[in-house]
Amino acid sequence: MYVGVDYYPEHWPKTRWATDAKLMKAAGFNVVRLAEFAWVKMEPEEGRFDFRWLDEALSVLHKQGISAILGTPTAAMPAWVARKYPETLAMQLDGQRITWGVRKNNCFSAGAYRLLSQRITKAMAQHFAANPAVIGWQTDNEFGSPQCYCDNCKGTWQDWLKAKYGSLDEVNRAWGTHFWGHKVQTWGEIHMPADMHAHNPSLCLDWKRFWSWQNVRFQHDQTVILRRECPRHFITHNLMGFAPDVNYFDLSADLDHASWDNYPSLGGAEAYDPAASADLMRGVKGKNFWIMEQTAGPHGWGSYTRNPRPGEMRKQFFQQVGHGADGFLWFRWRSCTVGREQYWHGLLGHDGKAFRRYREAAQTAKDFHKVGKELAGTTVKAEAAMFYDYDSVWAFDIQPAYNGWNFFGANASANRYQEAVKRYHRALFRAGVNVDLVRPGQDLSGYKLVLAPHQYVMPDPLAQQLSDYVRQGGVLLCDSRTGVKDATGLCHERTLPGLLSRAFGIRIEEYEALHEGVSYATQSKTSGLPGAYQAVQTCDWITPEKAETLLAYKDWHLKGLAAVTQNKFGRGQGFYVGANFQEDAFYDHLVAGLLKAARIQPLVVPPAGVEATARQGANGTLLFLINHTEEPKAVKVPAGKVDLLTGKKTAATLQLGIYGVAILKI
Ligand SMILES: [Zn+2]
Repeated sequence: MYVGVDYYPEHWPKTRWATDAKLMKAAGFNVVRLAEFAWVKMEPEEGRFDFRWLDEALSVLHKQGISAILGTPTAAMPAWVARKYPETLAMQLDGQRITWGVRKNNCFSAGAYRLLSQRITKAMAQHFAANPAVIGWQTDNEFGSPQCYCDNCKGTWQDWLKAKYGSLDEVNRAWGTHFWGHKVQTWGEIHMPADMHAHNPSLCLDWKRFWSWQNVRFQHDQTVILRRECPRHFITHNLMGFAPDVNYFDLSADLDHASWDNYPSLGGAEAYDPAASADLMRGVKGKNFWIMEQTAGPHGWGSYTRNPRPGEMRKQFFQQVGHGADGFLWFRWRSCTVGREQYWHGLLGHDGKAFRRYREAAQTAKDFHKVGKELAGTTVKAEAAMFYDYDSVWAFDIQPAYNGWNFFGANASANRYQEAVKRYHRALFRAGVNVDLVRPGQDLSGYKLVLAPHQYVMPDPLAQQLSDYVRQGGVLLCDSRTGVKDATGLCHERTLPGLLSRAFGIRIEEYEALHEGVSYATQSKTSGLPGAYQAVQTCDWITPEKAETLLAYKDWHLKGLAAVTQNKFGRGQGFYVGANFQEDAFYDHLVAGLLKAARIQPLVVPPAGVEATARQGANGTLLFLINHTEEPKAVKVPAGKVDLLTGKKTAATLQLGIYGVAILKI
């Protein structure tokens, strides 16, 4: 089990390094990440490498038993790169290249940049392959930006389409270019979409896929070298949870494990969102992950967030461990006195002194080591899966489909797909049930329940797989906008929900968006889904064929139509939700019905504000209970179980203090 910090020795005099390393060791830290923005320090001029400073830093750290993950430094190019190879700077829509001097400003198709990236990666890999302090690599930093509109990218985009479609006829068919007379007759006529809300949506969808692929290819250049030169080291990348620009399933294919940067919003959703992101980060590889950066203090480039309160960093830490984190680094060690991240505070302040945040991190690290043996070899084994589909994320970016206003207090411009995933994830969280976020198309046979909300892009084989899943005994949930589009973003010609009509026992002849301030009242038709709720934002007019109506609309013009249905199909059941609902209680009751149908029983039902997750291994189950609130909570738990953090046995009720954490061995 690794725990530590992101460390920038190059920001401080060498005379300070030994002090830092000793303080880290005293805190129980055994890993740092180094060098991910230090390109010019390692290659001060083209082809001349200088790793002496990093050798020295590694040696100082290693003396204290601290290992290192090295970052390939390509997220921030040296000035000499921009000066000698101006084409490596990304071009903006207005034809101007990005001004050098921030970061993430390179074009991913510029041959010079790819070669320079491969050269520094190779030089680092060869130099550090045998260094005993080094255990792994982080490629680049937070892939996903910027977009580039240079001629090089345009040519690469056209080549990518040629490889994908083979012929212009196929491009024209796949995109439906007979609309507005947009038929392309030469490859060179294919343009880069400037406005994702005005150009052909099928073209825009491919552009987003292409853009993601550019990032994946750039990383692949580096991982090939690292694998060859450093076979003993792991390779990872610091992903960003729900950040939408790169398909993390594709990006992670070249990694040993995923890592991610967790900056809880320190706002209303801070318990929920990091949980959902963690499930995706576990899902992209189907295995445990690392936290490569996590909030260590107030942070921001200009203004900064609030400070983590006493106990808060520890509960954020164990929340991630409960979802499958096996390694953990806080960002950053010491607040930097210079540069754009002066306010991105570390465990230590600008003064370099070890105050409260350091002491809390040290306590957390000690707790982590205490439970390390029990955690080893365990992971989350969920009986429920939820799809996470980049095609649908992108398709909703291109056409949001319904008005973004909401009752939910969330960002009204937020992506409809991601919001849908989060609504169901929150209800599962409140129910105390673990869920895997998985890529559509993967094998579902291990799951009793599958949620596929807002599965807007639905190629026929996927619809067939879902239908078969239900027929063979699975419980499936889909909702509004399911199965509207095919793989290239053209609307299916079948009546919705298309190939899933039999699984759900319904047809949808009409649908609409509900504008701001408009909602439809609904009423329960069965004890299976009690209550009355307000349908908002999106509304399917569902005609039940074989399905039972769980919830019906009350408005006169929707008489006889269903808002929510349940259907027995083969050996399984299909639940269809035709609207978004204003009330959390709707989702809680719905999820209760889904869990009952799927015969999934949570280990404990947590009180509001408490999260329950579980990791399982050969030696049993570890139940994590996290109090996300600032008031004590009582949780009904199995009696006589050991809390690994305190060593005490549980009574029938467990008391959790403010931000309290317990790990019970079940
Ligand atoms: Zn470019």
